Amino acid sequence: MLATVIARGTILEICYLFAGVTFILALKGLSNPRRARNGNFLAMLGMAVAIGATFFQPHLHHIWLIVIAMVIGSVIGIPTSRFVKMTAMPQLVAIFNGVGGGAAALVSITEFISHNPKEQATYVVLEVLLGVLIGTISFSGSAIAFVKLQELITGRPITYPGQKVVNALLALAAIGLIITVLITSSTALLWILLAVSFVIGIAVVLPIGGADVPVLISLLNALTGLAVAASGFTLGNDVLIIAGTLVGASGLLLTLMMCKAMGRSLPNILFSAFGSAVASSGGSGVERPVRSASAEDIGVMLSYASKVAIIPGYGLAVAQAQHTIRELADELEAKGIEVFYAIHPVAGRMPGHMNVLLAEANVPYEKLLEMDEANPQLSQCDVALVVGANDTVNPAAREPGSPISGMPIINADEAGSVIFLKRSMRPGFAGIDNELLYNEKTTLLFGDAKESLTKLVASVHAS
Ligand code: NDP
Repeated sequence: MLATVIARGTILEICYLFAGVTFILALKGLSNPRRARNGNFLAMLGMAVAIGATFFQPHLHHIWLIVIAMVIGSVIGIPTSRFVKMTAMPQLVAIFNGVGGGAAALVSITEFISHNPKEQATYVVLEVLLGVLIGTISFSGSAIAFVKLQELITGRPITYPGQKVVNALLALAAIGLIITVLITSSTALLWILLAVSFVIGIAVVLPIGGADVPVLISLLNALTGLAVAASGFTLGNDVLIIAGTLVGASGLLLTLMMCKAMGRSLPNILFSAFGSAVASSGGSGVERPVRSASAEDIGVMLSYASKVAIIPGYGLAVAQAQHTIRELADELEAKGIEVFYAIHPVAGRMPGHMNVLLAEANVPYEKLLEMDEANPQLSQCDVALVVGANDTVNPAAREPGSPISGMPIINADEAGSVIFLKRSMRPGFAGIDNELLYNEKTTLLFGDAKESLTKLVASVHAS
């Protein structure tokens, strides 16, 4: 009997170790577009093994309840993920992430209630309390991020006088409650900690503007990872510790990479209410002349180029024009014109947005050049074709005092001429004017990117 239990424990540990290794290899795979699909499959395999193994845990109760919960989760999760629009991906990640944080908090609460905290070592109770705090912040913060991105409430920063003081008091209250619960083991105070954590999640996210919400989601994702790792320590479950730590570390790295690509610090993103002041600075209200042309004229211009850089942005995703842009590139290449795509790290609304979009249209990976690789080539290009991008090519980023100062940009202005495909003179996500639109070497083709590209394909084909 004892031997059976030990053997079962060892097999479980081996399964969890296998899952942990697949998660690490999956992350490695996800770091490269070519291997990303395999990375995802590997992670799915590891997760399936970990879930399957968990059913063989000794002392597992309420198995039917677990199965019912899994069926409900799958019925909601699978169609939602399959049919989500590419532009709605950030809010999907937000809501899934929030559910993960909430689950980790529930595990910690259950542990606190079902094991007498007075009989537990202090560090064990601390892990439980941190699980409640971090998991709940992640849950309510992600929920607010979701409603902001889904535009159920305004995407602009929501601020009020004394907000920073209120937030600081909430943080102090949480620390005070954790210390008091550690001393008194009071369940009533645990519920108050839960409520305070819930309010902190909301309070921290409200002043963050829509443009910065994806960075916040990445940070909340890292927090969920930490909450899961805390649950892993509480339950003595290795795979939760490994998975939670991987999510925590990779989420934090991604957050820092996004900050770097936007040329801003994490505290600036979290506390500066970026977007409220910027919104009013966008557009001077004074009409300035710009040069626009017909698709036929621009088609001729493109046909006479020898090297073209395509700079995609959020508008490409909105217009779902990834296949049409590929068609245009094919037409140009058929004429012997060299074409590459210059990809800014925060083009679109989430990291890798453009890569995923263009991969969907089977654009060869080697044609997608990261910003550092693309920028030295821009001065050799006859045309920079900017499709639904704005902030990521805005030279205002090079000027001191601009809200996007310091953000590295794609040097579209160094190309012989610049063509913008957009619908209007409206600014990009940062809400500020783009001087490049008024530059004498710039030509605008107004309209939805997909419609404009379709006309350009026909025009290039005919020229
Ligand atoms: P921007 O938001 O700067 O510009 C998008 C442009 O697309 C707008 O000028 C808009 O102009 C145009 N557009 C929208 N819909 C269409 C359409 N259907 N057809 C043609 N044009 C369209 O996008 P970028 O990709 O250049 O920059 C991304 C921004 O998002 C940056 O400010 C970045 O910091 C921010 N951000 C990105 C994150 C990421 O991870 N990717 C994370 C957080 C923030 P018009 O309305 O006139 O058509």
